[in-house]
Formats: sequence, C-alpha cells, structure tokens
Amino acid sequence: MSPILRLFAILSLSLIPALAFTDAGSLKTGCPTLEATDSGARDSLMQYICFYNAPPGEPAHNASRPEQLPEDLAWTPAHGRDLVFSATKSVYWVHLHIRNSGAERSLWYLKLNYPLLHEITLWQTGNGTTESIVTGDQHAFSSRGIDYRYFLLPVTLDAGETRSITLRVHSSGALNVPLSLETPAEVIAGSNHLTLTHGLFYGALLVFAVFNLLLFFSSGTAYYFYNAFYMAALGLFLFAMGGFANQYFWPNNASFANTSIPLSLSLCALSMTLFGRSFLEVAKGTISETALKTLAWFCIGFLALTLILPYTKTILLNTVLALTVISSLFIIAAVRWKQGYQPAMWYLLAWLVMLVGGLIYALAAFGYLTDFLAREALMQFAVGGQVILLNYAMVQRWRLLNQKLLEVEHNARTELEFKVHERTAQLRNTMRELEKANRQLSTLSMNDALTGLHNRRHLDNIFPELCAEARRTGHTLTLALVDADHFKAINDTWGHSFGDTCLQFIAEMLTRHVKRPRDIAIRFGGEEFALLLPGTDPAGARIVCEALLADVANTPLISPDGTEVRITLSAGIASLRTGEDQNRLFERADEALYAAKNEGRNRALLSEVTEART
Ligand code: GH3
Ligand code: MG
Ligand code: MG
Repeated sequence: MSPILRLFAILSLSLIPALAFTDAGSLKTGCPTLEATDSGARDSLMQYICFYNAPPGEPAHNASRPEQLPEDLAWTPAHGRDLVFSATKSVYWVHLHIRNSGAERSLWYLKLNYPLLHEITLWQTGNGTTESIVTGDQHAFSSRGIDYRYFLLPVTLDAGETRSITLRVHSSGALNVPLSLETPAEVIAGSNHLTLTHGLFYGALLVFAVFNLLLFFSSGTAYYFYNAFYMAALGLFLFAMGGFANQYFWPNNASFANTSIPLSLSLCALSMTLFGRSFLEVAKGTISETALKTLAWFCIGFLALTLILPYTKTILLNTVLALTVISSLFIIAAVRWKQGYQPAMWYLLAWLVMLVGGLIYALAAFGYLTDFLAREALMQFAVGGQVILLNYAMVQRWRLLNQKLLEVEHNARTELEFKVHERTAQLRNTMRELEKANRQLSTLSMNDALTGLHNRRHLDNIFPELCAEARRTGHTLTLALVDADHFKAINDTWGHSFGDTCLQFIAEMLTRHVKRPRDIAIRFGGEEFALLLPGTDPAGARIVCEALLADVANTPLISPDGTEVRITLSAGIASLRTGEDQNRLFERADEALYAAKNEGRNRALLSEVTEART
C-alpha cells in the first residue's frame, strides 16, 4: 500500500466515528427542539418527541445504533400523546432534540415511568461526543447507574448546548414508554410522594397479611391462612409489577425478575381459589366445588409452566387464568349469596372491585391504558378496596358465626334453666310431700290409733315440759288419771270389739269435757286415761272429772246383744307441788285413783283428800 493510500485509510478510519456522531446528531425528525430550562416545555415533553415503529424485517428493526437507521426514515410526531403500544414485536425508535439555553451546565433526567421494559438503549450526542446507556429489565437491576425502580437516564447539557437524544426500545408484550424530563429536584420530589403512597399501600397489605396469619394461628380457621396467602401473593405480584421486587428482592437476577410476574400472578390465582372455596363454604360435591378444585389444579399446573415457558406466553396464560378465577369466584359468590349465605354479599362486593382492578390490569398488560402511574394508583385503589372489603366480609362471617354461637349458648342456657326450674319444682313438691308424711308420721306416733287421743309417747314428751313450765311460772298443773271400772268384765261379756267401742265412747266424752285450749286428754294404757290440766286447780279438776264421770255413767251404750250397758269411771286427781318432781305427781294421782277404786269406783278423789285419810 502506498503511503498516500495508507494516509487516506487512516484518515477515513478516524473519520468513521466523527461521521457517526454527525449522523446521530443530525437525525431529521421534523420535531421541534425542547428548551430544557423551560419547565412548561418540559411538562409537554411529548410535543417534542418523534418516534418510529420498526416492525420485524425492516432495516430500522435490525439497526442497533442510530447511525444505522435509514436517512429517509419517516418519523412520527407524538403530538403530546404517550407512547403506548399493544402486543407488538416492533422495535421503537424515539427521538428528541434538547437544548440548554441557560447560563450553566445542568443535569436533567429523562424518566421512563414504566418498570417492565426489556431493552432500552439511549444515545445522547452533543459537543461532538456520543454517550450511550443500555438498560432494561433484561439486565440485572444492580447494573443500573441509578438505584431507581423506573428508568432514569441522565442528560447533562453545557450552557447553550443542544443534544440529540435517541432511544431504542424493545420489549415483548405491551410496550409503554411514558417519558418525562425532570430536574433532579423534581425527580426527588416525585419519588418522595410515590414512596409515601407505596409505603402506605404495601405496609397496609403486609399488616393485613400478618394479622390474618396470626388469626389463623390463634383460631386454626383455614380461610384466615388462605387470606394471608392471598394478600402475600397479591402484594408480591404488585411489587413485581411495580418494579419493586426487581429493585429489592432480586436485583442481580434479571431473568427471575421477569418470571416473578407471571409466577406471582399464578400464586394469586391459586390463593384466590383456595380462599374463595374456604370462605364461601362451598359444599362438597357441588358444581362450584368441582370448578374451584379444577381451577386450583390449573393454577398449580400454570405455576409449573411459568418456570418452563417464555415470559411472553406465561404472562398471557396467567392473565387469562386470573381473569377466569376472578369471574368464576364472582359467579360462585353470587350463587352462595342467593342461597342465603350472608357473608357472600361482602365477598361479592370485594370481588366486584377486584374485577375492575383485574380489568384495569388486563387493559394495561395489553397496552390499552396509558399513564402508567395513574393506572398503578387505580390498581392500588382497587386492590386496597378489595382487601378492606374482603376483611370486612370476614368480620361479617365471624359476626354471623358468633351470633349463631350465642344463640346456641342462649338456647342451651334457657333449656338448662328450664330444667333446673322443673327439677326444683319437683324437689319442692317431694319435700312438701315428705313434710306432710313426716307430719302425719309424727301425729301417728303421738296419737292413739283407736281413740284419736294423744298417746303415751305424747304424755312422756309433754308431761315434763308442763311440769317445768308450772314450776317456772308458779301456775298450777293438775293431773287426773281416769280408769274404766271393771272393764275386763265388759270385754269378757260382749267381746273385745264392743270393748273398743266403749273405749272410743270414753275418749269422746273426755274430749267433750276437757274444753280449755291447753287441756290435754291422753290414753296412756288399755283403759287408762290421763288429763293434763294446766292452770286448773284440784277443785276445778274435780268438778271437770265429776261432770265427766256423771256424763259417762248416765249415757248407756247398747251392747251387741241389745243390752243397755253403763260404764263407770274412777279418777285420781293431784296438782303439782312446789319442789315435787313429775314422777311423784303421777304417783299421787295414781294413789288417789287407787283409793277411788277401793272406795267403790265411779268417783273422783283428790290426792290431798286421800293423803289426809292415811
Ligand atoms: P278395775 O275396775 O279394777 O279397773 O277393773 P278392770 O277390769 O277395769 O281392770 P283390769 O286392769 O284388771 O283390766 C283391764 C282390762 O281392760 C283388761 C282388758 O280386757 C281391757 N282392755 C285393756 N285394753 C283394752 C283395749 O284396747 N280394748 C279392749 N276392748 N279392752 C281392753
Ligand atoms: Mg286399769
Ligand atoms: Mg279398769
């Protein structure tokens, strides 16, 4: 090679980059140049953006650098609209001219508010240099220049400098390129606000999940566990969707960062199914139960598939799965509500909100919804609403269970109280009967069966008492012993039965003559009677006895053979003396009676009189 030729070669080689810079910097897009210091202009950034959609097969699709783009490329002005494209395989070229007409060198950030872009390359050409940055979620998060969950591309312009900025964006599935140009202060302020809302949202979700888990541990109720599982899965899914999981959970694993989205989505679907089945108390053997069981198995299958199939397929499959689960649960909840299961109403309401959230997500996933942040806020609103309603549904269910429990308890208590009342009444009855029987028994034991008069036992009880009382009060107490005369003869002549009739007759006479309330007539032996007359002196007692004797003697009885029989009685009367004991009193009365017998019977004798004689 000649030296001239060599020089030419060197010159041309050294010119290649310069040519490239010239090319990149002078892309003719037809869009105006943005004045970076003008915040109003920055706010309407999309007025300055031009883009080119390069479907597969076009040279622009294969171009990997701006200078490889055909010169006559027909750029499309964005005209203020966000760059949102539904399921596309195209490569998008985005271009912006930007100028710093300020007096100082300044930094701005080109912000891409969408975390799920696979591959982004930025070239900025100015002052004769080209810088490029390659990023996207295909690259490990840790490789990013700035630790930010969306994409921040720094653009530094010297005073008066103009730069040409070119972006090459390629993604699978929906493609969103929500661009803004912000000063560092604006970026920080925006990030702060987002941090607050996201912190509140994920914090609340975490608290709910932990709370439900604790409820599960303390109560053992399965749906608390499933609810905690659901909230954790939902949180993880939104975390992954929002780019947080990529930023904080697996910053070094770009491929898992992508897989985590469909993976957490199928976990969501699984937990929703399990929670729904448990919460709605879907009866075994029903169509609903079969459907939910099948769905649960599908979820597990999809979970496995997510690990094998590529992202583009699994995201679609899992979205369809989640929508199927949500709508199935919606229908089943409606059926359960119709069947009269009250908590299903709140569940249904929660699901209605979730259905809206699901639709928003689906629309977003397929690129039909612009404004990523507004959409994310809407999603969070829907999810938050659903979580609150779902937890309220659980409170309702708990309240219902509690009410049932209280009812059962109340019924049991009422029944028990009734039984206790019944038993008490029975017991009281038995006691009353027992008392009556006791009273009868004591009457029987104190009374003489033949005559109905008090018996010997009563005499033994009452006699010492009356003696003691007389001693204490100083009142008189008179005892009269009455004995039927020749009674053996009556028995022998007319028989024992007639003898009994005579004894009853005597008893009747005794009761008739012993009238004072405190007087007591007692049959204490076969045909022997005692009269206890408290407050009656011997003379009074004698009057009573003589009246009795006369009455008995003058009242004839008809014997079985028709004979008129007249019974006579003899009586011995004694009054308690000072210092005398009851036995002595009895003896004296008996002695008087003995004397009355001896003196010819049918008479009443006072102890004093008989004593005086002896
Ligand atoms: P006195 O005038 O000496 O008292 O003669 P008495 O026959 O009445 O005396 P005694 O004590 O010898 O006899 C009492 C009789 O009373 C003996 C018995 O035949 C009779 N007697 C005792 N208890 C009963 C009874 O419950 N029923 C009948 N029918 N007779 C009785
Ligand atoms: Mg006798
Ligand atoms: Mg007798």
